[in-house]
Amino acid sequence: MHRKIALIGNPNVGKSTLFNELTNMHQHTGNWSGKTVGVAIGKHKNLTIYDLPGTYSLIPHSKEEEITSNFVIDNNYDIALIICDSTMLERNLNLVIQTLEVTDNVVLCLNMIDELKKKGISIDIDKLSSILGIPVVGISAKKKIGVDKLIGEINNFKSNKTIKLEYEKEIEDSIKSIDSINRFDAVRKIINGDNKLVSNYLNDIGIIPVDSVMKTIYNKCSEITNSVVKKDKNYNYKRKLDKILTNKITGIPIMLLMLIGILYISIVGANYPSSILFNFFAWLKDIFTNVLVTIHIPSVISDLLINGVYQVLTWVIAVMLPPMAIFFPMFTLLEDLGILPRIAFNLDGYFECANACGKQALTMCMGFGCNAVGVTNARIIDSKRERLIAIITNSFIPCNGRFPALISIISMFFIIESKFFNSLFNVGILTLLILLSIFITLIVSKILSKTILKGLPSFFTIELPPYRKPSVIKVIIRSIFDRTLFVLGRALIIALPAGIVIWLLANVSIGESSMINILSDFLNPFGIMIGLDGIILLAFILGFPANEIVVPIMMMTYLSNSHLVDISSLDTMKNILVSNGWTIKTAICTLIFILFHFPCSTTLLTVKKETGSIKWTILSFVIPLIIGIVLCLIVNVVFILL
Ligand code: GDP
Repeated sequence: MHRKIALIGNPNVGKSTLFNELTNMHQHTGNWSGKTVGVAIGKHKNLTIYDLPGTYSLIPHSKEEEITSNFVIDNNYDIALIICDSTMLERNLNLVIQTLEVTDNVVLCLNMIDELKKKGISIDIDKLSSILGIPVVGISAKKKIGVDKLIGEINNFKSNKTIKLEYEKEIEDSIKSIDSINRFDAVRKIINGDNKLVSNYLNDIGIIPVDSVMKTIYNKCSEITNSVVKKDKNYNYKRKLDKILTNKITGIPIMLLMLIGILYISIVGANYPSSILFNFFAWLKDIFTNVLVTIHIPSVISDLLINGVYQVLTWVIAVMLPPMAIFFPMFTLLEDLGILPRIAFNLDGYFECANACGKQALTMCMGFGCNAVGVTNARIIDSKRERLIAIITNSFIPCNGRFPALISIISMFFIIESKFFNSLFNVGILTLLILLSIFITLIVSKILSKTILKGLPSFFTIELPPYRKPSVIKVIIRSIFDRTLFVLGRALIIALPAGIVIWLLANVSIGESSMINILSDFLNPFGIMIGLDGIILLAFILGFPANEIVVPIMMMTYLSNSHLVDISSLDTMKNILVSNGWTIKTAICTLIFILFHFPCSTTLLTVKKETGSIKWTILSFVIPLIIGIVLCLIVNVVFILL
């Protein structure tokens, strides 16, 4: 008999692997979420399989999730085949329970059973099958175990669905009163506030639909998990580790030490290769200049090439590459080990105090890599209100495009005698800055949730995923190619035209002054007022396409004033800055402004895409800018008073 199968599952559970195995197709598989975008259709004998984008829930947060959610709820298929990561059953059951509210025709496939034993987990599959009343099959898509049995179950499908979900009485009453094609369609309408009467009624009696519904579902998931999942000694040993890492007293200091450790290794480790690169590029510059002279390139062009393009490009490489090449592998390692969710867990209480969601901490961790990724990642937060808070505040966390600027300014201006303690001192300052950005994130989250995004924190559980043994090769490949080279490539692509623009601005004059002087003179009074200067402000404005190029732009502009000084080390850079009026106050205000100004264009576009709203995009631009200006003003006033 011909059957239409909807293949659904959370991201990263092996859906593409199973789909490819069944259909002999070659959908891309990989270890990140959101890669299956549109619906892929394939055939396996009498079965037509619709491979849907991965989703955690049928309450969608993104276009891709909406595709899946609508497809499942519209119910134009014969069987929903749900694939779960059996090592994280509780989290995966959420989607199963929701789908069972749409249709009785569900087959549950527990993938990665090859991993269960290693992780010290066992699952009573028969019991799970009888609790839910649907066929459940354990497989390993990767090792091709159990796939034939799965196909057999699909072909002989019979449903005896036994599970029944009972929401709060008011929600149940509302479900009955709403015109819908199935129970979850009604639930979704209630959550979306589609029916004004129902939403007013629930609002009046103080029920937040999404919380109430999720609570019922989460409780069911944990009840089922508790009765079918058993964990042995191996698992318990890891739990003990968790007790230390997520303990109220030890958790946060350990995380802080880890952060300091990573920053320390990055900063100290980067010094050496950075200075080698600086020297190398200075050497190459001489050769390059000689070549241009020998082939009689007009001096205007050679000046543009060398002092415009070459200087900016090599600066970006020499300053950014070494710390990134060290920071990213370590960050990826933490991610793969499963440390990041534990950080979110530790910060959960603080976010609850700020009336926000603990999962926001995870989106912040992603923000350390790239704020645009952090903003996209906010999809993991169910409540729209909390998601918006996470999105608006994400750019407070310094992304890797800003780290090199922070690090170089700190190492130029915060110096103590002892060489060893100097690095430690620098790391201390950087850590303080990061703590400041976390602190401001919490404060602003609280203010937002008391004003334009009113509400109480929602109910949710962070399930701590198992620790994984990271594969060193994968970590290196991912951090070098997906992160380091990606970020560097982006910086270079933007730095190249930026170098040309700056050179032009510096060399095209109106009357007596160059364009750059006219612009920076115009900005200067305001810049001075907040402890910066016109050139620094101009650099931030011109650096809107990418934060990576703010400091290079600044250097170029100062250089064009100081006429052809080589930037061959941080020391000469510092001299240039100081001769242009920089003091410790300028350094502090610039550091603050690097943390809090407007997000880069990529991040803003992502905010627009994720929120679909100009209003939130504008707020994401304005809020950090105001905070930056206010903090810099305060620092400036304090210095004046001192
Ligand atoms: P999707 O996001 O759900 O499409 O997941 P993928 O098919 O891309 O798989 C995610 C990761 O899990 C990949 O690295 C796969 O190699 C791995 N994987 C898939 N199935 C299994 C399995 O049965 N056992 C193990 N150990 N890994 C698997």
